[in-house]
Amino acid sequence: MHPIEMVDLKRQYAKIKGDVDKAILEVLQTAAFINGKAVSDFGQGLAKYLGSKHVIPCANGTDALQIAMMALDLQPGDEVITPSFTYIATTEVIALLKLQPVFVEVDTKTFCIDPEAIEKAITPKTKAIVPVHLYGQPANMEAIMAIAQKHNLFVIEDNAQAIGSDYFFSDGTKKKTGTIGTIGCTSFFPSKNLGCYGDGGAIFTDDDSLANRLKMIANHGQSVRYYHDLVGCNSRLDTLQAAVLNIKLPLLDDYIVARRKAADFYDKAFAGHSKITTPARASYGNHVFHQYTLLLEGVDRDGLNKFLASHNIPSMIYYPVPAHRQKMFESFGSGNLNMPKTDWLTERVISLPIHTELDTDQLEFITAKVLEFVNG
Ligand SMILES: *Cc1c(COP(=O)(O)O)cnc(C)c1O
Repeated sequence: MHPIEMVDLKRQYAKIKGDVDKAILEVLQTAAFINGKAVSDFGQGLAKYLGSKHVIPCANGTDALQIAMMALDLQPGDEVITPSFTYIATTEVIALLKLQPVFVEVDTKTFCIDPEAIEKAITPKTKAIVPVHLYGQPANMEAIMAIAQKHNLFVIEDNAQAIGSDYFFSDGTKKKTGTIGTIGCTSFFPSKNLGCYGDGGAIFTDDDSLANRLKMIANHGQSVRYYHDLVGCNSRLDTLQAAVLNIKLPLLDDYIVARRKAADFYDKAFAGHSKITTPARASYGNHVFHQYTLLLEGVDRDGLNKFLASHNIPSMIYYPVPAHRQKMFESFGSGNLNMPKTDWLTERVISLPIHTELDTDQLEFITAKVLEFVNG
């Protein structure tokens, strides 16, 4: 059996090595390391894939979120509603820009922000909502967009874990996650569903003037070289990373199929177990399984994590400390928050290996070991 990894990028690379090596060599030969042709090709390719009018590549997913908030011209003290049950980057950039993060609960079935909780958290200072399509499961965007329209709020989708996911609206139309809100943000961190071989990110929007601002902010606030109209930053996707992404983008749908197949195997193995809840799949979207995350009840979760590790099976707790309990946010008044659902989830989640290269032998071994521990 091949060694089991949370994400097996070595075996994934082995299958595309010829194409990737060639694309990288081409970049080396042209020496266009910054803003090379591969970068604009990738931006256009991704825009076409997503059905988004504009895609602005940038240096990483955290920058994408920061640039999005800068482009919306949010002012210090403006409130931004976001889940506490997420990766830190979503919430960190809010604080970095001196905005006020307003943490709300997630739905315990989908792990995504709860629209009812959003509505309750709205004040006259609220300017934006940042839903996260956590673990690859779309948030309830139809409800979120209705709230945003009613209260005139921006929506910035954190799509770092869900690129390629389809969202189905009740009128029968569909859109890719990340293209529904005002702005969508993603990351190409190597382990993401569409990952490069270093850092990378992108921002999506259908709004022409917003796209122009996003582009300028990512490039020192300039559209004409050396004329800086806005305070911006320096956030570029480098050409080598874009060359890798140009090879991997056409494979994204196959990668999603492979992840969903592994998830199906896990679902079947754990179906109906009284102590294990397998990930819900919301009817309004397709889960692309960036993570496969179980909820355990009456199981020593950290004991399971150690037991699996002793059999060379990695597993992870995403995330061991929710945002509202991070020291980082103490000065933002998060210490007094009472978020029982988020705390409840934080104590019970465990993510199993999920990636494009898992084979049946590995899946059988992982599920057998999980059941051996849980059934004690
Ligand atoms: C990975 C991730 C980010 C940040 O992406 P980086 O490229 O690592 O900066 C933001 N939000 C979520 C939910 C993520 O999973």
